[in-house]
Amino acid sequence: MASIFELIIAGDIPADIVYRDEEVVAFRDIKPVAPVHVLIVPTKPIPTTDDVSDADLPLIGRMYAVARDIARSEGIADDGYRLVMNCRDHGGQEVAHLHLHLIGGRRLGPMVGGEAAD
Ligand code: 5GP
Repeated sequence: MASIFELIIAGDIPADIVYRDEEVVAFRDIKPVAPVHVLIVPTKPIPTTDDVSDADLPLIGRMYAVARDIARSEGIADDGYRLVMNCRDHGGQEVAHLHLHLIGGRRLGPMVGGEAAD
C-alpha cells in the first residue's frame, strides 16, 4: 500500500509543496512544531534510513542540499534550524517513507526531551 507521502508525491492528496524535482519533493508538515516545518522526501519510496543503500547516498545529499536552499528561501538560514530524520519505532518515525524534517523560525529546545509513551 502506498504511504501517505507517496500519495502526496503523486498529487493524489493535497499538500503545500514548496519544492519539487524528479528526485526530491518538499512540503509543509500538516502539524508544524515551529514557524517553519518542511518535510523533504525522496520520490523513491525508501522506508527508513536503515533501508538506504550506498547507491542512494547522492540522493541523501540532494535532500540536504534542498533543505539548505529552503532554509535560505524561508529566511531562517542565518538564525539556524534543525534537520531531523527519525528511524522506526524508537526514533518516533510515523510515516514509513524516508523524510528529513526542516524545523526553524524560533529557538528550539533540547534535541531529545521527555519520555515517549510506550
Ligand atoms: P515522523 O514522525 O515519521 O518523523 O514524521 C512524520 C511527519 O509527517 C509528522 O510531523 C506529521 O505531522 C507529518 N504528516 C503526517 N501526515 C501528513 C500529511 O498527510 N500531510 C502532511 N503535510 N504532513 C503529514
